[in-house]
Amino acid sequence: MPTPVTGGSGSSLDSLSLASVPGVGPRTLAKLAKINIRTVADALCTLPLRYEDRRRLRPADDIAFGETGLFRATVVSRPQQSGRASGRPVKQGPVQVLVEDAGTKVVLKWFHGVPYLMREFVPGRQLLVFGTMKNFAGLRQIDHPEVEFVETSAAANTPFDLSASSRFGEILPIYPLTEGLAQSTAQSIWRKVAQRYVDAVVDAIPLAILQRHGLVKLSSALRQLHLPVEDDPALLEREDHPARRSLIFDELFFLELALALRCRGRQKEQGYAFQVTHRYTRALAALLPYRLTAAQRRVLGEIKRDMMAESPMRRLVQGDVGSGKTVVAIMAALIAIENGTQAALLAPTEVLAAQHFLKVRPWMEAMGLRAALLTGSVRSGERAALLEDLAAGRIHLLVGTHALLEETVRFARLGLAIIDEQHRFGVLQRGVLQDKGEHPDVLVMTATPVPRTLALTLYGDLALSVIDEIPPGRGSIITRAVGEERRADVYRLIRREVAKGRQAFVVYPLIESSEKIHLQSAEENFVALRDEIFPDLRVRLLHGRLTSAEKEEVMRAFRSHEIDILAATTVVEVGIDLPHATVMVVENADRFGLSQLHQLRGRVGRGTDDSFCLLMVSEACGEIGRERLRIMERSADGFSVAEADLRLRGPGELLGLRQHGVANLRLADLRRDGALLETAREEAFQLAQRPDFDSHPALKAVRETVQRRWGHLLQLADIG
Ligand code: ADP
Ligand code: MG
Repeated sequence: MPTPVTGGSGSSLDSLSLASVPGVGPRTLAKLAKINIRTVADALCTLPLRYEDRRRLRPADDIAFGETGLFRATVVSRPQQSGRASGRPVKQGPVQVLVEDAGTKVVLKWFHGVPYLMREFVPGRQLLVFGTMKNFAGLRQIDHPEVEFVETSAAANTPFDLSASSRFGEILPIYPLTEGLAQSTAQSIWRKVAQRYVDAVVDAIPLAILQRHGLVKLSSALRQLHLPVEDDPALLEREDHPARRSLIFDELFFLELALALRCRGRQKEQGYAFQVTHRYTRALAALLPYRLTAAQRRVLGEIKRDMMAESPMRRLVQGDVGSGKTVVAIMAALIAIENGTQAALLAPTEVLAAQHFLKVRPWMEAMGLRAALLTGSVRSGERAALLEDLAAGRIHLLVGTHALLEETVRFARLGLAIIDEQHRFGVLQRGVLQDKGEHPDVLVMTATPVPRTLALTLYGDLALSVIDEIPPGRGSIITRAVGEERRADVYRLIRREVAKGRQAFVVYPLIESSEKIHLQSAEENFVALRDEIFPDLRVRLLHGRLTSAEKEEVMRAFRSHEIDILAATTVVEVGIDLPHATVMVVENADRFGLSQLHQLRGRVGRGTDDSFCLLMVSEACGEIGRERLRIMERSADGFSVAEADLRLRGPGELLGLRQHGVANLRLADLRRDGALLETAREEAFQLAQRPDFDSHPALKAVRETVQRRWGHLLQLADIG
């Protein structure tokens, strides 16, 4: 687990358990573990939420209602206890006592009996009171104040030395808590941790870099935040406090440095330097019923340049749904094939792999080339023959699912690996495909547009191409969030479209109904749709539990227009390309992520007709859910949808980022820290390019830190 804090070269605070801190017993450890705080480093990068300034003694009447403060007071009268009337035992009734500071009277109140206090509150005694002032029926009152009796004979108006106090006189950091862990316990643990270990923190980033951006050393930032001495502690709470910015920078810098080192490593690798002969690419262009868009041509140009270079290509092609990424990828495959190598195209689902294969095979055959499809459902005899042909180089383009990644799949000479809808694959899986060749070129494609800040962290070592143009002649898509009361209208619309010879999708979030979550189940609803609502239309069901053969059969029937309405689970989410489908109804749309909804919407609007995307709002949908669906109504392009999704849900939700390591960023918030990320990236890439990066003694700490925190990323086959 990478953390922003590191120990010396041998001993690492990353792995040092909090058990090593005196006074932290097994029960406390267990409570902390619940909020993922296990090591010294975990504790150090769990920052205070806010600070309580307990240093300044103020007159009681200076403390406004709602404000928290410290004042000195004198007990006016003996405590009074209520509660008898309610029949509760005396000791449990609320207790209140009147105190006074320079004529300002304040009621102190405890709701659960605090019997020992009863004895202490003797009129005339002086005490320090800390708490939040409230207005109770015109009187000043503090509930559950913290008090400390002052054993002094000093008159109330002489200055009081707070340093003699055991509870006051300092700034107290307030930490995020877990159940059963008192704030005072947390404070004492964190104080011990900070006092003992802050000096062991390695300040790895060169000082010059920090100074350029007004940042401070890691150790100093941690000391400032955990052992505060700042004049105005409110400043420490601010996001732009240099100490906080420094910690975030530290975190981002090492992530970007890891990415930079991966890029650097790759530049040294010897890949294929392909030549663009145009032999097959021209032939394909002649076969296509359309011309490539300007954006497709530009991106293809970028790909060609990479493929001609000696270092292996690592390029990400982003393009909104329907922008025509497939044909660009196939052009790239043909370049690899022109040069006597093979190409592989990896797709996330069988349905999508089959669709790609069906589209590509006639093109390949027309050029005298051979494409093959490999999925989990290819039977063993056929499979053995296919694998033999592949290993012998008789297959030029292999299209398939995860089945491509199996060990028995061997290429004669894999020149290009293409990964479609890459966000569906983990980093490891991509590495496996790549390792089937010798430094093959790699092209990854995604229709999930990623905001720039995320792209820099996720795919920071990939070159980025964007197909930012939709082929001409497409109809528009009208998106509406629809309440239950208008369901009949939705069915009418489907009927009208089907009567015009079009097709519709109805998508459900789950396959079976669960007792707990009353989501509409695809199976039940499908039956109702087929037998009651549209008995005269051809309705079929597609879901993930069908065998591959069954899925293929349903898709084939839909493609050849033997089906009017396809009820489906999210199997249809990615890639499916059917020009006659003009209606997409998403049930319980508020249960889907925005990017997912955008993908679903992309299944329609592929022909010249106008299309409809109807997002059914479930009854349980709250205001936030509705707001999200309104974003869908407003934004037609994937980038604005993704930006909005990022703002609403954070990066973790957006792409299932757990696989990518971005979830390991603890302090940085990509929604907020974009500028700092860019700075960190620039500095990190510059540092990695230094010829003496691997040898300079002053950079030893940087090298060790990046290795310790992101070693797993550096070891991975180098593909973002
Ligand atoms: P995506 O980028 O979502 O993967 P596809 O590659 O599936 O999109 O392409 C969507 C549709 O657009 C396909 O039917 C494809 O044949 C068509 N297409 C691709 N490029 C063009 C173009 N330049 N002009 C017209 N249609 C195109
Ligand atoms: Mg696609």
